[in-house]
Amino acid sequence: DQGVEAGGILNAAKYGGRHHVSLIPGDGIGPELMDSVKTIVNVAGSPIDFEEIPLSAERGTDEDMRRAILSIKRNGVGLKGNLETFEANTDYTVMGGMTSKNVQLRTKLDLFAYVQRCKSIEGVPSRYSDIDILVIRENTEGEYSQLEHFNVPGVVESFKIITEAKSRQIAKFAFDTAIKTRRHRVTAVHKANIMKLSDGLFLDVCRDVARDYPSIEFNDVIVDNCCMQLVARPQQFDIMVLPNLYGNIIGNIAAGLVGGPGVAAGMNIGRKYAVFEAGTRNSGRSIRGKNIANPSALLLTTADMLEYLGDAEDAKKLRNAVLTVLRSGIRTPDLGGSSNTKEVVDAVVQYLLQVRGH
Ligand code: ATP
Repeated sequence: DQGVEAGGILNAAKYGGRHHVSLIPGDGIGPELMDSVKTIVNVAGSPIDFEEIPLSAERGTDEDMRRAILSIKRNGVGLKGNLETFEANTDYTVMGGMTSKNVQLRTKLDLFAYVQRCKSIEGVPSRYSDIDILVIRENTEGEYSQLEHFNVPGVVESFKIITEAKSRQIAKFAFDTAIKTRRHRVTAVHKANIMKLSDGLFLDVCRDVARDYPSIEFNDVIVDNCCMQLVARPQQFDIMVLPNLYGNIIGNIAAGLVGGPGVAAGMNIGRKYAVFEAGTRNSGRSIRGKNIANPSALLLTTADMLEYLGDAEDAKKLRNAVLTVLRSGIRTPDLGGSSNTKEVVDAVVQYLLQVRGH
């Protein structure tokens, strides 16, 4: 089973037995992959109505953002593509107005945890076949505070914010997830030997939280060694808990080890809301409109969303459909295959129609 089991239905709008989900297609390959999701959800007969929100590089005013946030607050659950940030302004010496829309969404909705399951998939070419890592990343502070300025020309100050409260929240989430998913070990990743105060606080809090979970093994690893261990012997990792930027980097390494951006699923979880998106959060601008993007990551993400909404059976069917198609060799070029997006989606549709017929 590829599922994650994190979260649960906290605040999901349901009208007449159907869930309402805010859909933000985003930029790059987002819109075409969301079309695939809509097709599949329709064929599967899952009780979901999407409320489409036009937020993108072109539609990115404060009002667009306000509406997107209102919609997610109303529905409780969102599904999104990646939003590009440096669309108009690639001048890195000017800061004004350049904050990432993805980061704004996560902080304004307080989606404090990012969860990425990186599990080997049978049939997907990769160096190892026995990886199953849950990367749990603090999603709202750290280096993503976007507080940077020039002191004087040529000198930049950039703030990394680590708080005890957010560190405790993510550490507790990691251990609670370990219990819920019957996993055995939580590893905190840090650079406390250099970032003594900030990462030191993160590590201390993780150690403190670990004492409340005697049945879960706890250890820690410095982020540079973690990278080396991950590529050399990734099987040693079970759940990893990390501050924001390390989580981004380690999450990408872990995703790369099991097939890359085309297959890794992801979810942003908060106390009240959840927003699902493909695990490595790429926009794939250079492959947009070519019918070659791999839809698997977003479809597996959709399965996780169905599970979160309480529809475990549809979630399992969709996950099985995607995994069966990947196993069968119908694969996009990122996995060394020669099929296109539509052929993969058609194969998933065929599988779903077959199991529906039984
Ligand atoms: P570009 O797509 O222009 O290279 P980028 O350099 O910002 O944009 P990302 O969007 O970060 O790249 O994506 C990283 C790589 O992963 C790119 O080579 C992209 O084509 C690839 N990629 C991302 N998502 C998918 C997907 N769903 N299927 C196949 N390849 C993907």
